[in-house]
Amino acid sequence: MKLLKDRILKDGKSFDGGILKVDSFINHQMDPILMKSIGVEFVRKFGNLPINKIITIEASGIAPAIMLGYLLELPVVFVKKAVPKTMVNMVFTIAHSFTKDKDYTICVSKDFLNPNDKVVFIDDFLANGNAAIGIYNLIKEAGAELYGMGFIIEKSFQDGGQRLRELGIHIESLAKIKELGDNKIIFED
Ligand code: 5GP
Repeated sequence: MKLLKDRILKDGKSFDGGILKVDSFINHQMDPILMKSIGVEFVRKFGNLPINKIITIEASGIAPAIMLGYLLELPVVFVKKAVPKTMVNMVFTIAHSFTKDKDYTICVSKDFLNPNDKVVFIDDFLANGNAAIGIYNLIKEAGAELYGMGFIIEKSFQDGGQRLRELGIHIESLAKIKELGDNKIIFED
């Protein structure tokens, strides 16, 4: 997606160690116009699937997910990264955090994810795939059906994409980065 790649080159900050900061337009301050274009692109990728719901994970996946849900007129459910005290009837699984380097419990209410649901998962980044694999397990645990996963940015030098594709998951990434270094961002195509 050219608009997105141009914006990453203009406003993204890359660091040694393969980290990309996009917090002036995706991860902290958000650009709703770009986010709408991202939603339109995800409609092109997933709009023909017989899904009834969009799934994401708090917090950075919510903006692109809500744009897709708005355009397809489908509900959006965000998986929680902390177990709420007040909630019963939840499904849980353990996921590993790339940014914090620790395990955490993710959960969702069975009221909002259950065997009636056919879903697409949307998130900001695909790196090692740990968050996405946690979501894959959570969707299985809930008895729902996964039709695809969409990421704004895939860092293809990390193995998340390969791990997910080996599980047979349909992956769509709007910008694929093959190399990241100090002030260096190289896209796949
Ligand atoms: P994974 O589980 O695929 O290793 O990492 C997924 C999560 O880690 C993403 O949802 C994102 O929050 C965070 N993440 C991974 N790599 C980066 C990065 O280069 N930049 C930023 N801002 N977040 C990242």
